[in-house]
Amino acid sequence: MSSILRIRWAIAPKTAPRPLINCNRCGAFKGYHSSGKFRVNANGKRIDAWLIYRCIDCDNSWNFGILERCNRRDIEPALLQALESNDPALARRHAFDVVALRSRIRRVEEFPEAAVHKEVLGDSPENTTALELQLGLEMPTALRLDRLLAGELGISRSRLQAWDEKRLLVVGPDGTKALRKPARAGTVIRIDLAGWPDRDTIISAAGA
Ligand SMILES: [Zn+2]
Repeated sequence: MSSILRIRWAIAPKTAPRPLINCNRCGAFKGYHSSGKFRVNANGKRIDAWLIYRCIDCDNSWNFGILERCNRRDIEPALLQALESNDPALARRHAFDVVALRSRIRRVEEFPEAAVHKEVLGDSPENTTALELQLGLEMPTALRLDRLLAGELGISRSRLQAWDEKRLLVVGPDGTKALRKPARAGTVIRIDLAGWPDRDTIISAAGA
């Protein structure tokens, strides 16, 4: 009989993606990073807002459009206040919005490092024979699922591959092809650990 230990992994990427912009001051493509500051422009009833980016070398600025020509009535007062006060959580959310960045800038550099907070769900079974890892993401990450699992569990990617081939590893809902793609919220990984001598090491690395 299998006893499943369920653990939630909350993943928070560490470094925001950087748009590579043809910096007119440097005369070359350079990475730009978020300054954490917004610029809000009110023109009558119309509001524009940008997150200000700066060249990592020369401090030249680039504006990442957040609101464009929005009617003041359509904007939540709390959002406007957050923009005007440079709310750090709001700035972080936009700085990590790689999809929006890519829609404006063709080249965006992504950083795969992430912090993983692990929490056991429910009771730990006495004799764990299988792990179920449930992924939660604070925001999108470029970290591949197989690298995440190998790094956090302290095992090699070739071993993961072998588990996959023997169906000891099951990834839902997208299947094991998701292993080579960035980790996504809602992914559930089941690993059958029965019979492995280093089972306890893997279980404790998983967060038990
Ligand atoms: Zn520059």
